[in-house]
Amino acid sequence: MNRNNETNPFSSEENIICHMCGSSDVHIRKEEDRFEYGNAEPSVFLSAIVDVYRCNECSIEYTDSKADDLRHEAVCNYLGVLTPKEILRIRESMNMSQKEFSHETGIGEASLSRWERGYLIQNEAMDNFLYLLSQPGNLEILRKRRSDSAEDVEPIFRNIPDMEEAKNRRDAFSLWH
Ligand SMILES: [Zn+2]
Repeated sequence: MNRNNETNPFSSEENIICHMCGSSDVHIRKEEDRFEYGNAEPSVFLSAIVDVYRCNECSIEYTDSKADDLRHEAVCNYLGVLTPKEILRIRESMNMSQKEFSHETGIGEASLSRWERGYLIQNEAMDNFLYLLSQPGNLEILRKRRSDSAEDVEPIFRNIPDMEEAKNRRDAFSLWH
């Protein structure tokens, strides 16, 4: 992900080189990209406003990975689930690495990484879970639950029964048979 492009669009424009002919005479325009989503009947069309690059030298037009991200966001919005950026923001607001977040929540680190990069969309249950985690206090509730259950499994000390008594009891038990 190129963060410089997001924060400073002007500096990135100087560096654009056509990947076909190597010319730096590349022009950018915003365009609505309408695309079909899923296999529903009738078809569902979604749209995203993306940057279209046009090389004035060789006339090729192309979009980049930022356009892919925007199309992915449009799909997430259509499905009503958190976007990759929103998931990233939830985790970062908790000041946790992917590994730490995974440890705290039980969500697989690889899955989390795929959601944040837009390679995969979380299912409805996971989306609800992430949403709840973003609400104040819920992470603390989970942490408390875990620390409580950790207390439960602390070893219970028990006196070793008197060996003589144990033997008698065993003998008594055997009398029943
Ligand atoms: Zn070109």
